[in-house]
Amino acid sequence: MPALATVRRVADLRAQVHAWREAGDTVALVPTMGALHEGHLSLVRLARREARRVVVSLFVNPTQFGAGEDFSAYPRDEARDSALLAGEGCDLLFAPSAEEMYPPGFATTVAVSGLGEELEGAFRPGHFAGVATVVTKLLIQAGANAAVFGEKDYQQLQLIRRLARDLDLPTQIIPGPIVREGDGLALSSRNVYLDPDQRRIAPALHAVLVSAASALALGAAVSECEAQAREALRTAGFDAVDYVEARRPDDLHRLGPGPLSEPARLLAVARLGRTRLLDNLAVSAPRA
Ligand code: AMP
Repeated sequence: MPALATVRRVADLRAQVHAWREAGDTVALVPTMGALHEGHLSLVRLARREARRVVVSLFVNPTQFGAGEDFSAYPRDEARDSALLAGEGCDLLFAPSAEEMYPPGFATTVAVSGLGEELEGAFRPGHFAGVATVVTKLLIQAGANAAVFGEKDYQQLQLIRRLARDLDLPTQIIPGPIVREGDGLALSSRNVYLDPDQRRIAPALHAVLVSAASALALGAAVSECEAQAREALRTAGFDAVDYVEARRPDDLHRLGPGPLSEPARLLAVARLGRTRLLDNLAVSAPRA
């Protein structure tokens, strides 16, 4: 298989995308931090259905990792990622250096207030400023027609939709569904951190969300379902539960403590050792 075309400079990315668009081709961007798995590849396939040309970016963005988080340990294997992407018919890999993304004197931050400060934003201060800034840059750099983001990082997806709307970025934001292992565990580059015992406990996160979602759809009270789900996660063996919350799906506003009157999204993070597992699930409103 021929090697995947790779550029490391913004100017080269721009030149290629410009040439494609001049030739009448549409372009879709799939931003990633590498260590690719089926979840990422499903987004590449979705991008291929949306556009004639697909660009994948690979950048482990230092500014979205907090002090004491896993930036240096984060799995990196560009050669493997590149081969997987070539196999999916990706047209271009954009793999910039940190200096290319953050030249000396870099001083601008994109912050999405409200949405960026809750849930993950509360547990990882500064995380979403890092995400919003790098994604804004990638969207402007690529100038693609569309960009694809996974529902796995549901709050991130809504934050990116918000910033694209607020900043009039002309790229359509397309969501991709969560890809899971056979036992329900959402695929994540960080699953490699789990030891065999933790890996056995991990699928309980999805299972607990599934039962909370069905209780909510039958008319159970939000506050009770959230509390029961947190308890069920501890019983299943999770070391800590950062949150389990039902929120309004688009803006993640809080809901009242009683039964749902509209569809919701359940979002949860639970910890196994130092590893934080994220998951989320759509919840339908009870039938009137
Ligand atoms: P990351 O490399 O973790 O920054 O993820 C890059 C993109 O892949 C993001 O839009 C993620 O939401 C998405 N993604 C990660 N895991 C999954 C999954 N299991 N299913 C679908 N999309 C995913």
